[in-house]
Amino acid sequence: MPNSKDAFFYELSLANRIVSNEGIIDSFGHVSMRDPDDPNRYFLSRSRAPALIEPGDIIEYTLDSDPVRPPSASQYSERVIHGEIYKARPDVMAVCHHHSPAFMPLVTTGIDYVPVFHLGATGGAKPPFWDQRDEFGDTNMLVVKPEEGASLARALGNHWMVLMWRHGVTVAGRNVRDTVFRSIYSARNADYQMQARAAGTIQPLTPGEIELCAKIATSTTGLERTWEHWVSRLAHSNQLPPYGASRKAAPAKRSAAKKSPKKTVKQTVKKTAKRKRR
Ligand code: MN
Repeated sequence: MPNSKDAFFYELSLANRIVSNEGIIDSFGHVSMRDPDDPNRYFLSRSRAPALIEPGDIIEYTLDSDPVRPPSASQYSERVIHGEIYKARPDVMAVCHHHSPAFMPLVTTGIDYVPVFHLGATGGAKPPFWDQRDEFGDTNMLVVKPEEGASLARALGNHWMVLMWRHGVTVAGRNVRDTVFRSIYSARNADYQMQARAAGTIQPLTPGEIELCAKIATSTTGLERTWEHWVSRLAHSNQLPPYGASRKAAPAKRSAAKKSPKKTVKQTVKKTAKRKRR
């Protein structure tokens, strides 16, 4: 597990690339993490497609979503989603906001999310809906004002997921891997749920099954197994981020590439995820 800022930024870069590679987010959407060493700070990339994020892109924010140092690049306009959830939920250590195609049938009609298979339990029994219209009327639909983020965080309450009418989903978790796991498997579940509705009568999990399944699915073993697999899928398609490289160094001349500490990459992602150099 990560234990330095370089390692945190690498983990967060991987998380963004994984949710992209697994089809949950595309050019938009983002994953953030709270600073494990300072609960009043969180990390989020500069405005960039998640598949391309590398450690040098990560910006450090206060919980008011102000950058700690003046950033040299443009920022995500929806960063208040992250800051306001970290404020409201001290137990949340990572957040993913996305517009997964799997959820669009639900968030455009108001169909409740229902866990239809065991891993779907990680989305919760009945995650709440939030409608930006209720408090803010006509907007450009983006969650950009602190009060809009705070309203969304209130709707999330003590759940792990909130569905956003005509927009998307925001997922919270106890750490980066937990949040990635919940984001991916809740999206798979939403997909299966809509297919099942078309195919026949859904026979969902019971509340007891949901509780038991969610507990086992996000155990350390489950998180490690999925993380290793998803990282290896990035590695096999040459999509691993560089480790510890600044944005300037990243596009890389040969000399800069040589300085990249391959050993540390290996330690972080294990042998199966080894980065190919060409
Ligand atoms: Mn959005």
